[in-house]
This record gives sequence, structure tokens and C-alpha cells, in this order.
Amino acid sequence: SNSQSVTLIGLGPMGQAMVTAFLDKGYQVTVWNRTASRADELVAKGAVLAGSVEEAVRANDLVILSLTDYDVMYSVLEPAREALSGRVVVNLSSDTPEKTRAGSRWITEQGGTHLTGGVTVPPSGIGKSESKTFYSGPKDAFEAHQATLEVLTSTDYRGEEAGLAALMYQIGMAMFWPSMVSYWQAVALAEANGLKAADILSHANETMTNMPGFLGFYAERIDNGNHAGDVDRLAMGLASVEHVKHTIGDAGVDTSFQDAVVELFRRGVEAGHEADSFSSLLELMRKPSA
Ligand code: NDP
Repeated sequence: SNSQSVTLIGLGPMGQAMVTAFLDKGYQVTVWNRTASRADELVAKGAVLAGSVEEAVRANDLVILSLTDYDVMYSVLEPAREALSGRVVVNLSSDTPEKTRAGSRWITEQGGTHLTGGVTVPPSGIGKSESKTFYSGPKDAFEAHQATLEVLTSTDYRGEEAGLAALMYQIGMAMFWPSMVSYWQAVALAEANGLKAADILSHANETMTNMPGFLGFYAERIDNGNHAGDVDRLAMGLASVEHVKHTIGDAGVDTSFQDAVVELFRRGVEAGHEADSFSSLLELMRKPSA
């Protein structure tokens, strides 16, 4: 094997996009997937389908995984565990930081080296330098394979500790999912009032586009422990989130998501933060100090 060759195990939408990106750059790609037929189109484009997962692992020093989660990694690699020694396994499957740490230990026990990856884009973003993947694990292994990994997306190496890339990935998803649900809520409210998603799109986009200004403003104050109510007060915030709840409730739209928001604001007021900024809600959400 050489630096222009790689093994990729797991041919869901993500793995398929990754193999295509490597083939487009002239890499020799060995693939394996539980459902072998998923390799057909890739083989037609030049990929080599290994006869077994062990054969796939032995084909290259660099083995990339794109599986549903870390539990799948064990079932897939167990029959090939003796082949892992001396290889670098880059696991681009999403999971929790705890699961990625355990996975890293298991690969290390087999004599391999584990790099954790957190891909922040959908398959359509693979092969584009404006896309980004977080990495963590042994720095020398990351640097040895960085150029190859950058065929997929740009890289953001976070440090040696295995869970760091998964942590950054999950921080992003902890914002992504509720943000998107807030958009579904907005669309349901619009529809209940005879408006279509297209009718509110520019307003929705402007609302999202204004968020970085808020994040930057509050980040600095949060890190300084400053929840002063000079710009906004939680009592005002509670009234506002209740207005949202009543607006969507009056329209006959499901309020369960907004109920959770109102409940958090109410707990903040009950905890005595009514004259503080709504950033004081962080005090309710933080890990309690030991
Ligand atoms: P899929 O869940 O579609 O891919 C699953 C892959 O895992 C397939 O190759 C599948 O094999 C294999 N697999 C699942 N269960 C088993 C099992 N029990 N034994 C053997 N193989 C199994 O995921 P994607 O391709 O969409 O994504 C892959 C990873 O990338 C995931 O961790 C996902 O969270 C992450 N990711 C995905 C994004 C996306 O938009 N799709 C965005 C960012 C990250 P088979 O074909 O045989 O079913």
C-alpha cells in the first residue's frame, strides 16, 4: 500500500460519497460493506471490493470506517481483529464522546491506532474543501494521513484525547437539531395562518443570520461570568416566550417544544434571575460543581 491508497468500510450514503471523492482524486480504494451490492456502482468506477472484511483491512495501512455508530464497528471488525495491528483506523461514524473513547481503547488493544472523526456535512459536502471534519487522537497518526483525509473535507484537529472530535460534533448537533425544530415550529405557525414555507423563507433566514451577533455578544459576557440585565432581563424574556407559546397555541399548533422553552425561563425566574440577562439560564443548565 502507499499514500495514494485507502480502505473504506461502510457504504451508506456517506461512505459512498467518500469512496467517490477518493476515486476522483486518483486513489486506489478497497471497499467492504455488509451488503455487498452497495459496492456495485463504486466497483464500476474503479473501487476494489474485498472478499472479506479482513482482506479489506489488510489491503491498506489506512482504514476508514463510515458505519451507523460505534457498536457496528465492533461487529464489523471483530472477525478482522488480528489484522488491525499496526494500522490506523479513522472512524468517521458518529457517536458520543464516551463511545468513541471506548472504541479508541479497543482498537489500541488490538495493536492499532484510532483517530476519531466528526463529519459536519451531509454526503453532498464530501470532496469539498469548504466542508469540515473534526479529528482527535494521536497527532503523529493524524499528521501522517492528513493529506489523504483532506480529500474528503478540510480537517480541524482538536487534540490527542479520543473523545474531542465527537464532543465538537455533538456540540454542533446540540445546536442543529433544536434550531431546525424551531424552524418546523415557525413553518407550522405560518401554515396555520395561510402562509407557506416559501412565504416566510427570507424572514426565517434573516432571523438565523442575526444569530452570530448574539452568540458573540453573549460568549464574551458568559466567559466573564456577567449575566447583567442591562440589555435584556429574564422577566421580559419569560413574557416574550409566553407570547410565542400563546401565538402558536391560539393557532392550533403543537406547543410542546415551546412549552419546554417557557418552562426553562420560568425556572430561571423562580431561581431569582428575573432581573438578570436570559444568559443566566446557563446557571440552571450547567453541570453542578462538585
Ligand atoms: P448509514 O446508517 O446509512 O450507513 C450505515 C453503514 O453501516 C452501512 O454501510 C451499513 O451496512 C452499515 N451497518 C449498519 N449496521 C450494521 C451492522 N449491524 N453490521 C454491519 N454493517 C452495518 O449512515 P450514513 O452513510 O448516512 O452515515 C454514516 C455515518 O456518518 C453515521 O455515523 C452518520 O451519523 C455520520 N454522518 C452522516 C451524515 C449524513 O448526512 N448522512 C452527516 C454527518 C455524519 P449495510 O449497507 O449493509 O446496511
